[in-house]
Amino acid sequence: MQYETIFHEIYQELKSLEDTGHVADYIPELAHVNPDQFGVHLSTINGESYAFGDAEKRFSIQSIAKVFAFVLAYSKIKSDIWKRMDLEPAGTPFNSLVQLEHDKGVPRNPFINAGAIVVCDILVSGFPSPKEHVLSFTRRLSNSFTIDYNTKVAQSERETGFRNFALVNLMKSFGNIRNDINEVMDLYFHICSIEMSCRELSESFLFLANNGVIPYSGERILSPSRTKRTNALMQTCGFYDEAGQFTFKVGLPGKSGVGGGIVAVHPEKYSIAVWSPRLNKKGNSYKGMLFLEEFTTKTKLSIF
Ligand code: GLN
Repeated sequence: MQYETIFHEIYQELKSLEDTGHVADYIPELAHVNPDQFGVHLSTINGESYAFGDAEKRFSIQSIAKVFAFVLAYSKIKSDIWKRMDLEPAGTPFNSLVQLEHDKGVPRNPFINAGAIVVCDILVSGFPSPKEHVLSFTRRLSNSFTIDYNTKVAQSERETGFRNFALVNLMKSFGNIRNDINEVMDLYFHICSIEMSCRELSESFLFLANNGVIPYSGERILSPSRTKRTNALMQTCGFYDEAGQFTFKVGLPGKSGVGGGIVAVHPEKYSIAVWSPRLNKKGNSYKGMLFLEEFTTKTKLSIF
């Protein structure tokens, strides 16, 4: 398939469209990003790769990192993870507190902030140096060993992360956080600050298209069953209260972040990452969503 030609066509179509989105300035460091950047990268499980625009430029992956943290915790404690969180779509914004009180401190799923914070608590309990562990895991997945945390972004988010601190405190009051909250939040803010390019992101998600095995190294990360379940979770919970829209319009499992990145996976085929920093009202990349909708429409490659 002529993926690069398709990327170009869709980009031209979207260019004339006014981008009504806004960069995520609630994290002050992210407000400085040039909002007009745009990149795409598609990697297939057979080793082909197709790029467009700023595909090599690193950006803040934010909530996309929740997938890496979840996969690490899931591969470590297996189905015991469901004693600490649920696996249902939340239908609320990523940082909502409302449901958490009602559910007695048990997050609805691992991809909303509360769920990712519990995942971080599990990683703090499970590894002596969890920050180093998540980073080396991410590097292995993407086969790119210079990927790093942006400590300025992590610090900026810590200084303004009042809602995230409210979430962790509420969960601690219900006994669903076992470790010191500052240690847990330090890990959470760091994983959100990881910087990767579209190429690195699409490559790092390829194991989810390849039954749980990293194609270039042959390393098994998850069993086929847990891989299928992780994809199912991304499908139902990867876009917060826009997961239904994404399923309806794009038809692939995926995950977004407030840095403007989106990664989506077509099991047995490919992984694609798009980056466009302006976000819609739900905190997902405005043009990224539209791009992927057009992409699966033009290529007729969706899982439905
Ligand atoms: N670090 C961000 C936060 O906690 C992640 C949110 C996101 O990317 N949706 O608010």
